Amino acid sequence: MPYFYIDRYYWILIIPTMLFALWAQSKVSSTFNKYSQVRSSRGLSAAQICRQILDSNGLYHVRIEHISGNLTDHFDPTSNVVRLSDSVYNSCSVASIGVAAHEVGHAIQYAVGYVPIRIRAAIIPVTNFGSKLSMPMILLGFVFGWQPLVNLGIILFSLMTLFQLVTLPVELNASSRALRTLEGDNILYGEEVSQARKVLSAAALTYVAALLTSAAQLLRLILLYGRRNNRD
Ligand SMILES: [Zn+2]
Repeated sequence: MPYFYIDRYYWILIIPTMLFALWAQSKVSSTFNKYSQVRSSRGLSAAQICRQILDSNGLYHVRIEHISGNLTDHFDPTSNVVRLSDSVYNSCSVASIGVAAHEVGHAIQYAVGYVPIRIRAAIIPVTNFGSKLSMPMILLGFVFGWQPLVNLGIILFSLMTLFQLVTLPVELNASSRALRTLEGDNILYGEEVSQARKVLSAAALTYVAALLTSAAQLLRLILLYGRRNNRD
């Protein structure tokens, strides 16, 4: 129940960011699909290249698993596993290799103690808590006219925006690590590097969209419910 009713801030803030998020989503799918058709000249699969980059960074303990779904690829820091999706795992395309190298980038971030990913890991529990409780708190506080509860709900919601904000450098850094390795270690050549870059840049757009969506929701909540103190 993210919204109580449709107001003018909904049209000004929520609809544009929603449209941007939809566009970003379609951009990442179309770019991935396009470069999924381009086979890299080395002919190794994304999983093989994933293993190679992990090993060259001394991450022998990080395993690689196959996961079902589309673009469900991720690094799981609790079990130290890179999970590669159906369209990535066995594929030799520049798109799949880009995605696999990006996930290894996250494994390296954890290994070297990259600060933004540590902040993100630290705030995940509070974010999960906040995502469940912030809206009910704002609604209850609003209905019963108890502003401190509303404010607390808004603060909890702002933690989710903070989470999206810290996610952005984490994602951009994982992609830049990936592209540096793919080029520097001669895994991809010439045009293949810029094709992988296009895929990862499109993926980064979805994180920008997530941040904008969250910031717009937060701003709307503040404008609608946060200013009641001033009126009282
Ligand atoms: Zn990522």
